[in-house]
Amino acid sequence: MRTLRTIAELKTALRQPRREGRRIGLVPTMGAFHDGHLSLMRRARRDCPVVVVSLFVNPTQFNDAGDLDGYPRDPERDAALAAELGVDYLFAPSVDEVYPQGFATTVSVGRVTETLEGEYRGRAHFDGVATVVTKLFNMVGPDVAYFGQKDAQQAVVIQRLVRDLDIPVAIEICPTVRETDGLAMSSRNVHLSPADRVRATALHRALGAARDAVDAGEHDPRAARAVALAELARAEIEPDYLELVSADTMAPLDRIDRDALAVLAARVGGTRLIDNEPIHPTSKANDNGSP
Ligand code: AMP
Repeated sequence: MRTLRTIAELKTALRQPRREGRRIGLVPTMGAFHDGHLSLMRRARRDCPVVVVSLFVNPTQFNDAGDLDGYPRDPERDAALAAELGVDYLFAPSVDEVYPQGFATTVSVGRVTETLEGEYRGRAHFDGVATVVTKLFNMVGPDVAYFGQKDAQQAVVIQRLVRDLDIPVAIEICPTVRETDGLAMSSRNVHLSPADRVRATALHRALGAARDAVDAGEHDPRAARAVALAELARAEIEPDYLELVSADTMAPLDRIDRDALAVLAARVGGTRLIDNEPIHPTSKANDNGSP
């Protein structure tokens, strides 16, 4: 594996494989790798003869300076793990390389960014994500890019972005990888105290409870939400949000009658965590809703 620091080095390295028409897969990350990241790399390795992993803690998507400063970083371990998985190129540019002096452009995706994470973290968060991902697509020119379902709204934003701007890249969304007790893997989990680490398992239980309610025939999102909130309350967790939304648009649902997502964000101790659970309603008994 080669570690590349500049856009010029990256373009040079990819010139030959691109000329030969070899499929280039990109996995954008902010590092501090866990099995979630590694699952995306494995998938890319399986699908593509050329795998590029980007490692860049993007300052413009952080709405909280403390969160950026405290973001876990372990570049040497990351490089070793990526090399072990057979990644071809680790692209790890500096902040100045990505945002040189005079940088003045923002890519801003509308609508799907207005709720949930966009509402709680502010407009700048998804603007930062959309801008850096657009830049990475232009730098790497991947045929396919891999993202995690863990960041469900981000996945919707990126799919919207490539459609709206006609960016010629296929987007693959990979399933959320979890700890054995259900907690979604996240670089931020290392900040949880032992007691909060246990409390944090309530997030996945809460989402599962909402899904179970729908599986049992509940079509009213308020009722499914109440079941999930009760599960969180047992762990004394009050979420920033907990909603049942359309899986395509992240818009709130009046009735769960199509593919949905139960999504939540919550602070556990000082650590803000997000998670989600896909919900596929089937028509069953106990359907109290109107048609
Ligand atoms: P991050 O480094 O947190 O920006 O994440 C890089 C990529 O890994 C994003 O596409 C995330 O959605 C994905 N990712 C993060 N955590 C997980 C997880 N537990 N399972 C699957 N993908 C994940």
